This record gives sequence, C-alpha cells and structure tokens, in this order.
Amino acid sequence: MAQRGAPMVEKSKEEPKAIVDSVIEGRKLDSYAEHQTKDMHVCWICEEICYKKKPIRQVGKRWICIDCLRQLKEALDQLPQWEEELQLKGHLEQQLDEGLGLDDKKKK
Ligand SMILES: [Zn+2]
Repeated sequence: MAQRGAPMVEKSKEEPKAIVDSVIEGRKLDSYAEHQTKDMHVCWICEEICYKKKPIRQVGKRWICIDCLRQLKEALDQLPQWEEELQLKGHLEQQLDEGLGLDDKKKK
C-alpha cells in the first residue's frame, strides 16, 4: 500500500485529492441511497411506495400514508354516526322480527 501511494503523491498532489473526493462523493451517494431506502415505506392500505416526498406514518407494525390516514380519520369521525345508524337498523330489524317473525313462526 505504501509503495503504491508514495509515488502518486510525488507525481502530482492533485490526483490523490481527486481520488479522495470521488471516494467521498461515492460514499455520499451510498449513504444517500441507504438513507433513501430507510425512508422508503410501502403504504399498507394503498400499497403506494412512499419516499420522503409523501408523508407516511408507522401505525403499529404497519406504515400508512397521509392520504389513507386522512381517509381513516374521516371514517373514524363518521364512526359514531355509523354506529348509531347500525344500532337503529338493528332495533328496527329486531322489532320487525318480534312483530312479524313470531306470527310467521306460529303460522308455519
Ligand atoms: Zn396509502
């Protein structure tokens, strides 16, 4: 290593610096690529690949992008109303079953 490095420094002082620079650039690119990969997540719901450009959040073990989270929030906001509707529907069906179902059963 010393034999190869020494003559190059004597020949030109620019060359090793250029090599070092290119190595640093290469490492920068490597770490950048690595960084990008770390930031890359696939949305669990829409399966979109999200880099830094699109916000994505970890929810439990899954990653969910901002768009899907917004949709989830909307759905959650509507949940109480939905539950009310379901309950009402359940009551109506129960009343119908009680009112009509029993008569049907008696006839059959
Ligand atoms: Zn998504």
